[in-house]
Amino acid sequence: FGSELEGQVAIVTGASSGIGEATAKSLASRGASVVLAARRKDELDDLAAQIENEDGETLVVPTDITDDDDIDNLVETTTDEYGRIDILVNNAGLMPLTHIADADKETLRTTIDVNLTGLISLTHAVIPTMLDQESGHVVNLSSVVGRFLQANSSHYNAAKAGVKMFGDSLRLDVASEGIRVATIEPGAVSTELLEHIPDEDIKGGVEEYVGSMRALQPDDIARTIMFVVSQPEHMDINEVMIRPTDQV
Ligand code: NDP
Repeated sequence: FGSELEGQVAIVTGASSGIGEATAKSLASRGASVVLAARRKDELDDLAAQIENEDGETLVVPTDITDDDDIDNLVETTTDEYGRIDILVNNAGLMPLTHIADADKETLRTTIDVNLTGLISLTHAVIPTMLDQESGHVVNLSSVVGRFLQANSSHYNAAKAGVKMFGDSLRLDVASEGIRVATIEPGAVSTELLEHIPDEDIKGGVEEYVGSMRALQPDDIARTIMFVVSQPEHMDINEVMIRPTDQV
């Protein structure tokens, strides 16, 4: 256990699996108090127990990122408990790839709601606290597909490109107030993300593609996020794209 983030408070969305879970563990292992947000309370409780076993500090706040009341509750519970928010890792996401002609409206709406609107809404709710502190770090999970095209993914690509543009534009408004904004753009990471692809053919194709390479692991992204949030205050790493060496 290092202590470079001692006294800092971090919120991690999508902490119940994959990249969010690994990031929450890393932040806690460096001394941050970590607020675990996602819908699956059992997974969050398990993670909290693991972190507390290692003498880390956590708070579980079950949250659906598409629900405004849940967002307010997440921020209020965090500030009531810890009085500040230093790091916001906007990681919750889902990737239900489908051809636009086969998509139902709900899938399209949820993709934007979770990956983009929820991320913007939570950031909106957290920023006043960071402005009061005159410091804070917002770390947004976009994707390589926020920058490059991918078939059967027009809705997901639009959301992730939106995340990148939101972060860069947000930075213009808050950098002078001491708030840093970073966009993380992973390539293929081995997580539960592919499990929610509704079309079995598309799912099989993506699984085959990811299986053909040495995919990244959640810890690889967590390590990158730790690097980003551990820099001195005058240094703002705006964007990091990380791909498996084999991914072209
Ligand atoms: P996982 O499926 O393992 O994790 C997704 C997380 O998002 C889960 O913890 C899930 O929790 C949470 N989530 C989904 N919907 C909601 C919601 N409505 N409210 C709150 N939380 C929600 O996938 P990853 O770890 O791979 O994904 C993390 C991020 O990384 C995503 O934004 C993804 O788009 C991005 N990414 C992933 C890549 C990859 O190859 N894996 C590549 C590039 C980017 P719960 O179900 O409990 O709510």
